[in-house]
Amino acid sequence: MEQEEITLIETGIRKKINSVTLDYAVKPAGRVSFSGDGVIKIDGLGSAKYGELLDVGGETQAIVLGLYENEVDAIVLGEEDKASAGMIVKATGRIVEVPVGKKLLGRVVNPLGTPIDGMGEIKGAKRRPIEAPAPEISDRGKVNTPLQTGILAIDSMVPIGRGQRELIIGDRQTGKTSIAIDSIINQKGKGVVCIYVAIGQKASSVSSILHTLIEHDAMDYTVIVCSTAKDSAPLQYIAPYSGCAIAEEFMYEGKDVLIVYDDLSKHAVAYRSMSLLLKRPPGREAYPGDIFYLHSRLLERAAKLSAQKGGGSITALPIVETLAGDISSYVPTNIISITDGQIYLESELFNSGVRPAVNVGLSVSRVGSAAQVPGMKKVSGKLRLDLSQYRELAVFARFGSDLDSQTAAKLEQGRRTTETLKQDVHVTIPVERQIILLYITMKELNKNVAVKDAARFNEEFFGYLVAAYPQVVEDVRKSGDISMDTGIAIEDAVEEFGRIFKK
Ligand code: ATP
Ligand code: MG
Repeated sequence: MEQEEITLIETGIRKKINSVTLDYAVKPAGRVSFSGDGVIKIDGLGSAKYGELLDVGGETQAIVLGLYENEVDAIVLGEEDKASAGMIVKATGRIVEVPVGKKLLGRVVNPLGTPIDGMGEIKGAKRRPIEAPAPEISDRGKVNTPLQTGILAIDSMVPIGRGQRELIIGDRQTGKTSIAIDSIINQKGKGVVCIYVAIGQKASSVSSILHTLIEHDAMDYTVIVCSTAKDSAPLQYIAPYSGCAIAEEFMYEGKDVLIVYDDLSKHAVAYRSMSLLLKRPPGREAYPGDIFYLHSRLLERAAKLSAQKGGGSITALPIVETLAGDISSYVPTNIISITDGQIYLESELFNSGVRPAVNVGLSVSRVGSAAQVPGMKKVSGKLRLDLSQYRELAVFARFGSDLDSQTAAKLEQGRRTTETLKQDVHVTIPVERQIILLYITMKELNKNVAVKDAARFNEEFFGYLVAAYPQVVEDVRKSGDISMDTGIAIEDAVEEFGRIFKK
């Protein structure tokens, strides 16, 4: 062949080669090497990011939870047995999203945002990723508005402000859930959106909560995010983050939101079982090392936004279950350190009939008192101290029988106060009534009432006041305060009523 011819062919070939465009952008993919109990390990997939949504063989989806040199750990969403070893896994570049917005109000959804209340699909709702950064410090405002729970012992002594995180902690069956549910019921007509997140609860418990909320007309402004004990650990694990995403949408619209996580102990247990299956090194109480981050990144998303950012808020009420009152075990101490206070419920109090069983000495609210209405501040200032003195005295009095008359009177008054603070489940008390009740307690206006009659006295007196002096009640309600004149009016009314009260 002539040299020229060869060159010609050569250039021809070159041209052809150059004209070929190779579509060799590598789609990140890997292969499942292990699958069990809702967790999978994947070989390859080097580009995956933490929290990224993966497609597992077109059958199901998974979330990345651990990144290693040659391996990725992920948790399977939906039906866990659909993922099996050998399947091809592709990265999607997205994060799990849930539907958010008004359309969710009144609905019960699973942690993926799928309705499970049989009321049809949620169509055309906006979606939000379940993981999101917490608001910056500069975007936050001061906690300055009360979030009334309607529970006298709490609103007076452990007040909660909008945007606060207050832990409800106690042994099993001490009324933890009831406090959270009553707080939701009390938000009726107050413009607060409520979200109840059930984590690993019995389905029957969630169903009874739903019925309670429906009965009290509270579902109109409430969303339930539900993962039950029979759901896989991954589903239970993402439930609070999904609930938080739903809450965030409302907060960024400028609304106030109350979110309940019931409970984070079960959440930690779900995370522990996932971690152990993934063969992560177990630490204290076999929990993995990042258990603190698990809850801090969730609770930091609760915030009060500044006025420039719309002024919305998320108030979080996480619940933690303790064993034999031990608040110094791993998960409780972690969560206590992340929250702005705790409501500590005690079995002993609960069983002796002091319900809600709030242990005043161990319960605190680090920011809420700044958000109390002025009237409440006036009447509740001394209450906590008086009650703890009474409890001390009561313990002391068990030993000796001879009490001087002053001590005996103090004990009696303490008992009356305890009676005043008792409150039945799902019976919320509006703030004006709380203030008036505590005014009577503070001034000891009920000192001639027998302890056994104290609760009935309160009940009947308030009925009398509303009927005879409605303007007094109205004044306290409107102003959120108790003026000198109102105080005198109440004192007079108590005296009048005392004459007709049947002992
Ligand atoms: P668990 O550990 O099972 O989650 P819990 O601590 O959440 O329990 P709840 O379910 O709220 O407790 O309450 C336990 C029981 O006590 C319920 O039957 C509830 O009705 C009752 N209870 C709670 N609070 C009160 C109250 N203030 N007055 C009377 N009964 C109450
Ligand atoms: Mg409960």
